[in-house]
Amino acid sequence: MNISRSLLVAALTASLCSAASKLNVIAATEDLAAIAREVGGDRITVDSIAKGYQDPHFVEPKPSFLLKLQKADLLLMVGLELEIGWLPPLITQSRNPRIQPAAAGYFDTSHYVQVLEIPTGQITRAMGDVHPLGNPHYWLDPENGRRIARAYKDKFSQMQASDAAYFAEREADFEKRLTEAEKGWDAKMAPSAGRKVITYHRSFPNFCERFKLNVVGYVEPKPGIPPTPSHTLEVINLMKSDNIKLILVEPYFDLRTPNSIGQQTGGTVLVLLPSVGGVKEVTTYFQLFDYDINLLTGAFAKYK
Ligand SMILES: [Zn+2]
Repeated sequence: MNISRSLLVAALTASLCSAASKLNVIAATEDLAAIAREVGGDRITVDSIAKGYQDPHFVEPKPSFLLKLQKADLLLMVGLELEIGWLPPLITQSRNPRIQPAAAGYFDTSHYVQVLEIPTGQITRAMGDVHPLGNPHYWLDPENGRRIARAYKDKFSQMQASDAAYFAEREADFEKRLTEAEKGWDAKMAPSAGRKVITYHRSFPNFCERFKLNVVGYVEPKPGIPPTPSHTLEVINLMKSDNIKLILVEPYFDLRTPNSIGQQTGGTVLVLLPSVGGVKEVTTYFQLFDYDINLLTGAFAKYK
């Protein structure tokens, strides 16, 4: 073998090895994928199943999801039964032993975060589609973003120990940037502290608690139950009596009822993003808060 040929072989081997050594991560949602990307950098590959503009409670299974799950070393999920309607059958059908429940590559992110709205007492059908383990929309508090990043750093390091120092460095840098960004977000939201809002679904409790907004009602009469005329009237009356001006709606809900509430109360309907990927230009965890906070502060400014 001549020198150039042996160099070529060495280069090919190196590139094959580095490709093979990347941890193949699949996340149930774009939010988890975005945080995984912050920590994993170029030592992992990340893809997501649900898109950020879709309702994460109801995702239409596609054959392409199975292909992604079949290749994965690690599956990151939100948990708290958010994905219960669609992810478990896909995991089973993938027949990938690495990501089955109890395998090392099955990772329920909810075990590492602060969870709100954990029901006390018995849950009945009359309560609607209540999340029985607590509210799964927890990633909308940057403190939970931080906890998720730490958990992923530990998990990636456990599965790919040779890159542990790299993951630790990236995670520390993410926390540093997040702390810096939070100062800006807090400053922008400070004038709106205590303002009352209506949301469509209970997607924003972590966000509103963190940024001191007061959610006093929902367009849904009960979680997962579509609007009814009598409940809509209650919301209209509440908005009028308490001078509430903002109705926050997730991108995947029908705007007819929120718009009609807005018209009857002089309020504004804002399509607030619960997820990275909710609109094309929001591709990172930081951009998600930038986008939502700009939208909110702009709208509140109109109603000073
Ligand atoms: Zn929900």
